[in-house]
Amino acid sequence: MANADDIMNRPEPARGFFDLTPDTLRKLLKDWREPAFRSKQVLEWAYEHGVGSYDDMSNLPKLLRRRLTAELPLYTSTIVSRQESSDRTVKLLLGWPDGATSECVLIPDAERRTACISTQVGCPVGCVFCASGLDGLQRQLRPGEIVEQAMRVRRECEPDRLSNVVLMGLGEPLANYDATVQAVRTVNAEWGMAIGGRRITISTVGLPRQIRRLADEQMQITLALSLHAPTDELRSQIIPWADRANIAELIDACRYFFDRTGREVTLEYLLLGEVNDGSEHARRLARVAKQIRSNVNLIRYNPVAGLPYRQPSSATVQEFLDTLITRGVNAHVRRSRGSDIDAACGQLRRREQAGET
Ligand code: SF4
Repeated sequence: MANADDIMNRPEPARGFFDLTPDTLRKLLKDWREPAFRSKQVLEWAYEHGVGSYDDMSNLPKLLRRRLTAELPLYTSTIVSRQESSDRTVKLLLGWPDGATSECVLIPDAERRTACISTQVGCPVGCVFCASGLDGLQRQLRPGEIVEQAMRVRRECEPDRLSNVVLMGLGEPLANYDATVQAVRTVNAEWGMAIGGRRITISTVGLPRQIRRLADEQMQITLALSLHAPTDELRSQIIPWADRANIAELIDACRYFFDRTGREVTLEYLLLGEVNDGSEHARRLARVAKQIRSNVNLIRYNPVAGLPYRQPSSATVQEFLDTLITRGVNAHVRRSRGSDIDAACGQLRRREQAGET
């Protein structure tokens, strides 16, 4: 596991096209003595038309295309592996120039096409049920690397449109705050991927200060809090970072988020067999959920090789759901996708690191 000094001393990964905003692109092209309209042309080719190379930007001068290719790569990643499930879930493992890898997933579901993307390489949180938590944080992703994953996934679903983006892959988005917010703004912007704020979700284990800061950004996005336990004691056993803020503090921060944005908070609850799936857990969860405007997403655990946790039975999941609903909680069970590929977060990356892909 990399320590903080290792991470600080690593060279900053090179900037790519998706790191730029219209302002920084305009400035760069101005410095290159290009006319003002060029930045709009390049942005349209990259986001609206979704071309994979500057060579496809046919109304740009050849010399400019060459310079952009050399100095500001459009896509900086390569696809290390691609798995497609029988339910058409597609999981990509992207390799960055410094050797780091990231997972991103396309989840097609009825009329939705959702990209699930990562915000860090590895994850510092270390949830006990999570494959990626085993290896710790390797480095932060740049804003452009976060956007690039969404663009890669968008290319996977063509000719359909990507409809949703969830920052729920590897990493804690709010522990890479500035990059996450810049990436979300790009995904949301009309000049960028033009995905409506209500179709963008940031999932966090819960950093109250950053949740409040996010609320003040005035983006109409959804906040998903990974609660996973209804008491502080149990939560600390499952999520090591739970010691940093108790549930009461998190609920306060979520209330602030709702007050500032008018957006209900999603409470994510991963059902781990015989750990947090009992009827008393459900009753306590209902009490927590009803303190704020929220909806509860129950997720049935997908077993991960090497970890001791079990999947709860369908009957247990149904009973848990019924307990919440009869107490007036807006609750759903999220369907597990891609179960015939390495769909739990971190599995594909770990297999690749072990030389199995
Ligand atoms: Fe990190 Fe999410 Fe895995 Fe927890 S579940 S270790 S926050 S990637």
